[in-house]
Amino acid sequence: MKIYDIAVIGGGASGLMAAVSAAAECRRLSKPASIAVLEKNARAGKKILMTGNGRCNLTNTGVNVKAYRGDTGLLKPVLNKYPAERVVDIFKSMGLLCRETDGGRVYPYNMQASSVLNILLRRMESYGVEMVCGFDVDGVKKSGDGFTVSSQDGSAAAKKLIFAFGGMACPQSGSDGKCFSVLKPLGHKTTKLFPSLVQVKTDLKLVRPLKGVRSLAEASFCAGGKRVKSEKGEVQFTESGLSGICVFDLARLAGEYGNETKPYISLDLMPEYTRDDIAAFLQKECYEMPELPAGRLADGFLNKALGTEVIKRAISDVSAPAGKLTADGIRRAAGTVKGLDFPVDGTLSWDKAQVTAGGVPLREVNTDMSSKACGGVYLCGELLNVDGICGGDNLHWAFASGDMAGRSAARGL
Ligand SMILES: Cc1cc2nc3c(=O)[nH]c(=O)nc-3n(C[C@H](O)[C@H](O)[C@H](O)COP(=O)(O)OP(=O)(O)OC[C@H]3O[C@@H](n4cnc5c(N)ncnc54)[C@H](O)[C@@H]3O)c2cc1C
Repeated sequence: MKIYDIAVIGGGASGLMAAVSAAAECRRLSKPASIAVLEKNARAGKKILMTGNGRCNLTNTGVNVKAYRGDTGLLKPVLNKYPAERVVDIFKSMGLLCRETDGGRVYPYNMQASSVLNILLRRMESYGVEMVCGFDVDGVKKSGDGFTVSSQDGSAAAKKLIFAFGGMACPQSGSDGKCFSVLKPLGHKTTKLFPSLVQVKTDLKLVRPLKGVRSLAEASFCAGGKRVKSEKGEVQFTESGLSGICVFDLARLAGEYGNETKPYISLDLMPEYTRDDIAAFLQKECYEMPELPAGRLADGFLNKALGTEVIKRAISDVSAPAGKLTADGIRRAAGTVKGLDFPVDGTLSWDKAQVTAGGVPLREVNTDMSSKACGGVYLCGELLNVDGICGGDNLHWAFASGDMAGRSAARGL
């Protein structure tokens, strides 16, 4: 059985960063150390290659606590130490240059996720960090002043352990959440887990006629008869529900609010206009073109299929001549433009989700990512109860917490 000073469980964004940072810190402290990454897949960093549509949105210049959900109260001390510039500088010190695009999103300069992975692997190699692939961790035991880590095919031992196995989102990339049970005997709990940054499912009858349509809107998640949260952006109508960045950012609420709260997403398709503005506009159309089928009244300001759906929901008969619409019908149509509602029927499953909501409570780790429950253990990345919105915040957390965990483990040797 091989014995390491530090073993990192999981070779994803946070684990690879933790390994590189642990090695860099050991070198800085002139402490020679053997470090290994134990990764279940045949190759490390599969998910990194999928991020940002293959471009890897690795941080955001506006990163702050408001971009996160979960145990956000405990997040500030870590984020204060890791503004976006620090993550960019860490990569720069490894040889990766970045560029900022819209909305503060930061990508590798060549817009290739593969560069981020290669830079990390290259650095690991130059520091002599061992990459052990095909090692699917299924148990960890405390032994002496260290740990024994087991898999079906063998075991390894380490003085310090960094857990970086991710959450449950996108299990096809390796992160299937099975390792949460390995943390239990070490004294760690896991909160309820549900998919975040994922499509929201709705009534197929309502959404199927709109499949393929995209529209700018303000999307509000409502539950228990109240508006919980709103996001502006492009909504995409799909085969089974609603998608788009603004919907992704609301999706975790579908896991938080049960069906008994009758959750729904309400779309304001013209947030810059009042209901009265829209009603006056429609009234004029009806007056000037009385023979026009009502279903075409919104042709000039909404996508055709969406406009027809709005009128259908308000007055049902889309072929009725516009001139026959009552003032009440016109007001209902204007109201539907301001609030086109879709009942929420959960979300698509883990394999379509980008991030895990929930995880190990942040109060179970110190701000240097060491475990409060078990000495010699460090935790980082998505397995903790922290999830970000779209825009680079999740990788920022993975890299920041990974760097912190790696350096702390090295100092703890
Ligand atoms: C399609 C997609 C696009 C995304 N795009 C972005 C983006 O552009 N920007 C952004 O900020 N975030 C993005 N994210 C989210 C981001 O990728 C994750 O939050 C981040 O990768 C989490 O890092 P991690 O190291 O905690 O976990 P992961 O990257 O999931 O890594 C965990 C690793 O642990 C390994 N592992 C799991 N169990 C075991 C075990 N038992 N034994 C050994 N190894 C194990 C896995 O195989 C995996 O390699 C995206 C996610 C997806 C799915």
